[in-house]
Amino acid sequence: MSASTGIALLGATGSIGETAQRVVARHPDRFRFVALTANGNRDGLQAAADRWAPGFVGLVEPGTAPLPAGWHAGAAALVDAAQHPEAAVVLNAVVGAAGLEATLAGVRAGKRVALANKESLVVGGPLVQAAVRAPGGGAVIPVDSEHSALLQCLAGRIGGDGPGLLPVAGVRRMVVTASGGPFRTWEPARIAAATRADALNHPTWSMGRKITVDSASLANKALEVIEAHVLFGIPYDRIEVVVHPQSIVHSMVEFEDGSVIAQLGVPSMELPVLYALTYPDRLADSGVPTFDPVAASPLTFEPVRHDAFPTLGLGISAGRRGGAAPAVFNAANEAAVARFLAGDLAFGGIPAAIEAALAHHGDRPGDDLASLLAADAAARALVSEFR
Ligand code: NDP
Ligand code: MG
Repeated sequence: MSASTGIALLGATGSIGETAQRVVARHPDRFRFVALTANGNRDGLQAAADRWAPGFVGLVEPGTAPLPAGWHAGAAALVDAAQHPEAAVVLNAVVGAAGLEATLAGVRAGKRVALANKESLVVGGPLVQAAVRAPGGGAVIPVDSEHSALLQCLAGRIGGDGPGLLPVAGVRRMVVTASGGPFRTWEPARIAAATRADALNHPTWSMGRKITVDSASLANKALEVIEAHVLFGIPYDRIEVVVHPQSIVHSMVEFEDGSVIAQLGVPSMELPVLYALTYPDRLADSGVPTFDPVAASPLTFEPVRHDAFPTLGLGISAGRRGGAAPAVFNAANEAAVARFLAGDLAFGGIPAAIEAALAHHGDRPGDDLASLLAADAAARALVSEFR
């Protein structure tokens, strides 16, 4: 058996998927890819497969052209990759609710799931919590930079297996930072009429298109508040969002004696990806530029302008409501963002469509995967008709 850690990389062709390939390329003695998947980007997946020669390659939507020999097709390929016998770690870098079943499969198979796919925890938080706590269940280690920061601030208070998805003793409050996105200082009417190019022009992070739009509406921060609630078992009234335009302080934990610990660094996903692979250890690495506090100065903090960013409050109240409401929020947001990117919905239509979906479907039950998927589908159907 090889001494290196086998990784199943789901979403290999995306922004996080490419970051993961750069990280692993710097540590060939420590990590290797045993499975790679993509959605429809056949050329990107072929290039990654040629580079890493994994035992398993999966293309979820292959279209009509025949697949290369040995490749797997369909959504089942994601779940199969997540259960791959040679994978100790599943790096889930799929975008959207489509990643949920693979997260559950990986945890149930006892894997460490290095989770970029925050939508998994938003849609199916209680299901993932139950899977982590079940006998033989694996772990969820966050890749999201804020949650990686929170985990690093909690070092020593959480076991080496990762968060038990239960309350962490001694924590008074978590402060999740937000860059504020490209519309941080814009008036509400101007935001409502923002174009695709405006929304895709993120000031501090280069990411996939969906999360970039989510960062402009602050839907991303709503997803992240729910993600923090699920991961660390912390009640919503002890999670605070603060705008920090420089994206240097990645988040903070306030302890019950009043001490506040923050994690800092130049904005880069290289570190959160690597840390999710090595947790609770650290590995010497050159992926993150050296932090120069003088050059980064001044570090500033502002309150969130909830009137200008109604999506944040909609998402947090959906989280508090529980049941299928977080799944409805997520699905409505995914569908609205897709319409916005297609030029079919104004930016201001995103919160309006989400609000309508939550009004119609927010009280649906969410006890099992089938009811969550039904709520997800109902929200998408409503948003597709929303005017
Ligand atoms: P991208 O859009 O860049 O990449 C998404 C990846 O998922 C691609 O490989 C894509 O394949 C694949 N994919 C898309 N839809 C499906 C589907 N229905 N089924 C299976 N695979 C699918 O996204 P990002 O890398 O930006 O984001 C990935 C996740 O990480 C998101 O949940 C995001 O919120 C989170 N995240 C991202 C950060 C970033 O810096 N980018 C930071 C923090 C969190 P294909 O190329 O074939 O379409
Ligand atoms: Mg984040």
